[in-house]
Amino acid sequence: MVRGFKTLDDIGEVSGKRVLVREDLNVPMADGQVTDDTRLRATLATVTELADRDAIVLVLAHFGRPDGVPSPGMSLAQIVRPYAQVLGRPVRYIDWEGDTAAVATLLPGDIAVLENTRFFGGEEKNDPAVVERFAALGDLYVNDAFSAAHRAHASTEGLAHRLPAFAGRAMEAELDALEKALGDPEHPVAAVVGGAKVSTKLDVLKHLVGRVDHLIIGGGMANTFLAARGVGVGKSLCEHDLAGTAEEIMAAADRAGCTVHLPYDVVVATEFRANPPTRTVNVHEVAADEMILDVGPAAVEALGDVLKTCRTLVWNGPLGAFETPPFDAATVALARTAAALTKEGGLTSVAGGGDTVAALNQAGVADDFTFVSTAGGAFLEWMEGRELPGVAALASG
Ligand code: ADP
Ligand code: MG
Repeated sequence: MVRGFKTLDDIGEVSGKRVLVREDLNVPMADGQVTDDTRLRATLATVTELADRDAIVLVLAHFGRPDGVPSPGMSLAQIVRPYAQVLGRPVRYIDWEGDTAAVATLLPGDIAVLENTRFFGGEEKNDPAVVERFAALGDLYVNDAFSAAHRAHASTEGLAHRLPAFAGRAMEAELDALEKALGDPEHPVAAVVGGAKVSTKLDVLKHLVGRVDHLIIGGGMANTFLAARGVGVGKSLCEHDLAGTAEEIMAAADRAGCTVHLPYDVVVATEFRANPPTRTVNVHEVAADEMILDVGPAAVEALGDVLKTCRTLVWNGPLGAFETPPFDAATVALARTAAALTKEGGLTSVAGGGDTVAALNQAGVADDFTFVSTAGGAFLEWMEGRELPGVAALASG
């Protein structure tokens, strides 16, 4: 146990053993089709390794929010066929009626998906009876779903205390990358925090100022910081009531020796739509009827120079309203700089967040970052410095 948790390297002989593997199969669907199979692919390494080692692989996962009420629309039965396609192997489906009998018919190397864990109301309550219900089906427990690790549920936390517990390959990769980015990073460290609102990322900002050397603030939340400094931000998205909080964060950064970077030029428009007339101006020249929708090119270039001096980058939140052209320019440009520095070998870059991942894909650089986390809530809680129950249970369990 080199890292505080055990992995599949420590699991020993699994041939013929029933291994409960918690995965994230909560994929988006439309008209009965999986529209994005990223999460299914993320399970491949663990599930195929265990099957190839002749384990009986029992995949546990939730789907949607049934709140303890089973319904066909939230049944994992509909995932089995697309999942089998992704795995390139047969996958059995086991419901909660005949589960014990069905598991008994499985052979070493078989893979089965158990029905939605949230069909039990006690799953999200970490009810010991539900933990017992799951535990009775398996000999060993593998948690491979980092994205669900911020929840203390029966299948994400409770089971780790009840059965010998191990991190799956995807969980292991995620934890290793996060440790390299914020746990024990090479300095200087830069953090980019963007997105819409300061209020959703207050704890992230507070945690980061004590850990990173450069805090780069972009997106709508930069407006709140600019306004706190007395800059007129016109009609921009801005939380004026958080001016005091923004000042406290800047003061804390000062004390910790962390440089806060706010944009000094910005791209503004009077209408928020695709390709409106825009102006690129100094932050002090925003008119009363204008909105700041992106960081300006001069600031982006300066930020690129900051990244060139850094060894580690952690990024959450786009620098502008990237879904609406041309307000993706700053995010795309800085992402490409970070990707190039990573490829050259000088920078370890870790990014996460739903919109951030979309923006990196839009920039075509997601594969060039050291690690891109697709876990939304869990990634943010980790950036807040919080202990994730699912991870803590692996360490203690
Ligand atoms: P993530 O999902 O990566 O954590 P967020 O959800 O916090 O990121 O933020 C993404 C949203 O922030 C996007 O919808 C983007 O349009 C919005 N945004 C970024 N900059 C601005 C801005 N200047 N004005 C309005 N919205 C912005
Ligand atoms: Mg988002």
